[in-house]
Amino acid sequence: MSINNGQTHGNPSHLESIDSLENNSRSDRRASLVRNQSFDDMSTMAEAKVLVIYTGGTIGMTRNSNNALEPTPNVLISQLRKYPHMHDEEYARTRFGKAVGFGPLVLPFVQNEGRRIIYTIIEYDPLLDSSNMAIKDWVQIAEDIKDSYQFYDGFLILHGTDTLSYTASALSFMLENLGKTVIITGSQIPIFETRTDGKDNFTSGLILAGNYVIPEVCVLFGNKLLRGNRTIKNSTVNLDAFDSPNAMPLAKIGINLDIDYRLIHRPCTVDKFTVHGKLNENVGVLRLFPSISTATIKAFLQPPLQGVVLQTFGAGNIPSNRKDLIEELKRANDSGVIIVNCTQCISGSVSEIYEAGQVLCDTGVISGFDMTPEAALTKLSYVLGKDDWSLETKKQIMESNLRGELTSTKPMKLDEIGLIDAVARSLQISSPKELSELGETLFPAMINSSVVSGNTNKIDMLKGHGANLSTVNHDHRTALHIACGEGNEKMVRHLLAYGVSVHIRDRHDRTALMEAIAIDNHDIIKTLVKCGAHMTGSSRVLGENMCAAASRGLLKRLMSYRLAGANLSQTDLSHRTPLHLACLHGHTEVVEYLLKNGVETSVLDHLNLTPYDYALRGGQNEIVNLLKEKGVGPPNSNNE
Ligand code: ASP
Repeated sequence: MSINNGQTHGNPSHLESIDSLENNSRSDRRASLVRNQSFDDMSTMAEAKVLVIYTGGTIGMTRNSNNALEPTPNVLISQLRKYPHMHDEEYARTRFGKAVGFGPLVLPFVQNEGRRIIYTIIEYDPLLDSSNMAIKDWVQIAEDIKDSYQFYDGFLILHGTDTLSYTASALSFMLENLGKTVIITGSQIPIFETRTDGKDNFTSGLILAGNYVIPEVCVLFGNKLLRGNRTIKNSTVNLDAFDSPNAMPLAKIGINLDIDYRLIHRPCTVDKFTVHGKLNENVGVLRLFPSISTATIKAFLQPPLQGVVLQTFGAGNIPSNRKDLIEELKRANDSGVIIVNCTQCISGSVSEIYEAGQVLCDTGVISGFDMTPEAALTKLSYVLGKDDWSLETKKQIMESNLRGELTSTKPMKLDEIGLIDAVARSLQISSPKELSELGETLFPAMINSSVVSGNTNKIDMLKGHGANLSTVNHDHRTALHIACGEGNEKMVRHLLAYGVSVHIRDRHDRTALMEAIAIDNHDIIKTLVKCGAHMTGSSRVLGENMCAAASRGLLKRLMSYRLAGANLSQTDLSHRTPLHLACLHGHTEVVEYLLKNGVETSVLDHLNLTPYDYALRGGQNEIVNLLKEKGVGPPNSNNE
């Protein structure tokens, strides 16, 4: 286990949208998410922004006159504002200058955590008991994350516990190439009640989602952070209601947040975050029991069924003396139904050690290894929703490890003995804690020096020794920051293929993308953007930087900004665009480039002057003529 408080990450500040989100209806909300996608935040404070999606569940329920719990709309946000341990009203007022009762919520400062958490809650209408949730609700959550992905550091979903593992499993597949932390939590006792477990789950979820890059859909419950698609709800009464019997917790929440970075599953494709929202509903779970009738099996396997999770006995066994049952399964398989063998046991995997299990393989049933029924079912639904995959591909994917949901029979073994161990022995270190601390000290230095020397083999070797390649150095910089600064595209690709996060911000809030911009390496910028990197920070600062580049005629720099997704019409503090400055200083090539890229030509600065006015007043006749040629004439005749 390792503690790494340096895993902060970032995205554009986005407070206007945060304000406008609260108390909006769902359709208004979607519109405002899009409308407010600016970077207009002048904050230099270390803050992280978390979007809380409140779907319902016990955590926000109140008691009705019969003492029964029910979801009550518009209560959670207003109540949280009154809880000083959940909302720092003074900070919010100073920071956002809003009247009490409006604006984003602010978690009071948490000792030892890098950033203060600013959080916005969107409340679903209606709020649902999770037993009433369906595929369309998973799609809604996924789409909401997609719409606001660029504007938050992480996401926290408040959810009822009953079907929480289904939602977590489904989202883990639907959110493709996820680069940010998504946590689902809820509680057994409402957050408004004295003995609630909701407060701890909520606050730990906020801190983890805001301050740590764990690019997985996780479940946080009872002081553990679990991989979502490994979870099961295992108790209706315990506060520790979730478990992941076949996977270690990703983090333990005690006095410290103890995150095991080696366990984190990272997407290893150089691709942007996207949502696959098409799920196939023709799937089901068939649990065998002694003497199950042929008629039941036959009825279950009827069209339109396309995918089945077959819950078998022990290590994947069925009654091998039941020819009728075997025939029905074979018939379904031959007609194109995918049947996945999962055990009824809570922990362990299916295997082919018994004849009774072997027989299933011969019918074409595929192994679900140690997947939970929730994971297997939602994965089937996801895989069957991929219209462009052949049946063979779908079966292969079902047996592959997509998001850490299964352990195949040949687990990858990390060779953790060796390197660090050898050093440990020479230093006479023996306790696991000291050993892990040694790894934390040595690995970042070794990773960084391998990156600087451009040695990808060494990176492979360090990874093989269990190093966390996303680790940060004392300046909170990752190996990716360094590879980008070095301009080593091969190394950048290598690190991205190991899943190193593009979203981590260093001590000065710079991402790897900014390093690539600083050296105008367009190939690296394109690679990072392809992998989901985006501009972060204040849009005004960005405007100033671009205007400075335009003043100096730095065409390549402006190209870098454009490739990184910046809006070339972004204004500086005086409301000047890069075009104003390029016109004033006579950089014809830059003016041509900006015009070619469709920048706004009639923006007025604070003195009411357009770029054309700047060219005129700067005596840049060539540019004046160029603007006229392009139809960008003098809009203000008084200025001529
Ligand atoms: N019935 C509730 C739900 O799943 C239980 C809970 O929230 O814990 O929505």
